[in-house]
Parts: sequence; C-alpha cells; structure tokens
Amino acid sequence: MNILNSLNLKITAHLPVKIVKNKANRPLASISFDDFAKSAWQVGGKILDKYGVKGTYYAVGGFCGKVAEGVQQYDEDDLRELVAQGHELGSHTNKHTSVYTASDAALRKEEADNKAFFNEVLGDYQVSTFAYPFGDISPRTKKLYSELYPLSRGIRQGLNGKWFDMAQLKAVPIEARLWTPEFIENWVRHAKETNSWLCLFTHDICENPTPWGATPEMLDHAMAMLKKYEIEVHTVKAAMALTQFDE
Ligand SMILES: [Zn+2]
Repeated sequence: MNILNSLNLKITAHLPVKIVKNKANRPLASISFDDFAKSAWQVGGKILDKYGVKGTYYAVGGFCGKVAEGVQQYDEDDLRELVAQGHELGSHTNKHTSVYTASDAALRKEEADNKAFFNEVLGDYQVSTFAYPFGDISPRTKKLYSELYPLSRGIRQGLNGKWFDMAQLKAVPIEARLWTPEFIENWVRHAKETNSWLCLFTHDICENPTPWGATPEMLDHAMAMLKKYEIEVHTVKAAMALTQFDE
C-alpha cells in the first residue's frame, strides 16, 4: 500500500460522515461474505442454516459465473436461492474497483450497473448496503457512498458501539491468515459486554481457503460463539434497522 492510500485510511476513519446512535440496547451480530465465492453460499450458507441465521452477501456483478483470483464465484442461481431464503444481497461495486482509482461518475455508474444486474436476475430488488472493495476508502468516497446507500461496511477492525458511523461500519475478519479461536471469541465477548454490533466478514469457505477466506470449521466456530454468548444474528440491513428503533 502506498503512503497516500494509508494516509487516506487513517484520515477517513476519523472523519464522521453518518454518525448515529445505536438504540438497540443489546448486542447484535452480522456475518457478511465479500465478492463472493460460490463456496460462501454453497458451504457457508449451510452453516448459517444450521444456526438458523441469515447472512449478507456483497456481490460484484462482474464476477458472476467467473473465476476471480483462482476462486470460483457465485452464479445467478446462487443469487436467486439466497435471496429466496431471506439472506441479504449487498453491493461490492460492479468490477471490484478500488475507490481510489475511479472518479465519482465512474463509481456511480458501477453502482447503477450492479443494481441493473441484480434487477435483471432477481426482478425488482432493493439494495440497502454496500461493502468497500479491499476496504479502500477516502474522504471523497466515504461521502459519495453515504449518498448512495444507507450503510457502507469497511474493514477497519472494531465493534459498532453506542455511536457508530453508518458510512464506515467497523468489522471483524474471519480469515485463515490470522484466525485463532481466541481472536473470534474475544470480539464476541467484547460485543456482549458492551452491547455493541459485531459485523463479521470473510470470503471463500472451504477446506483450503485463500488467506482471506475460512474453513467451514472457522465459520462454524464463530457461529457457535455467537450462540454461546446468546447474541442475535441478523443481516446487515436488519441489524441496521434494529439499531435505529426506539425501544
Ligand atoms: Zn472484495
């Protein structure tokens, strides 16, 4: 990462754009899959099913039916199935574009293209949330996406506590490259103790995952921890709504 990009990340993390109060008064969790690999739905979806929870799939329209960086991506049937079963489909740009490299007009077009693709496959489908590819974000693009979507998820590690920024939801990775059972359990426990919203994210789910993906056991372990600490799991869209209700 060059110096300008890391400076962008640092500045943007402390730039409030859409700060809201979390009114949920109880811990919440979400699980999200980026890009997304076919295994995230075919394997990961079954694990969510086992725990009776719904996830959020951040799809890159241009990846449909393709192999990206050696990983088989979702296809149209996967999209139809997961939406029919109550999971959320979110946007992750149409070409997996780093937002640093594109103009506002180009990024807006990508979102229009992604929505058009979703509607082509699913009929009328309202996309409510977005995830930044590579977690790349800048003051300019944080503002841009806050106009396009009610909520955008980044990859800055952390919980979303009493006050949080809907333009850059914090998240915690379930990734083979840094996974330990304690890492996940500590975040889950911390969410429980602070009534925060924990948004997990990962990529492919298979026995030999990419460094950014997880094995079925790792995903199962995260779900088991959420169950152990009695934390409700909702799609990002549904959890967002719960944080904004007056109870
Ligand atoms: Zn991605």
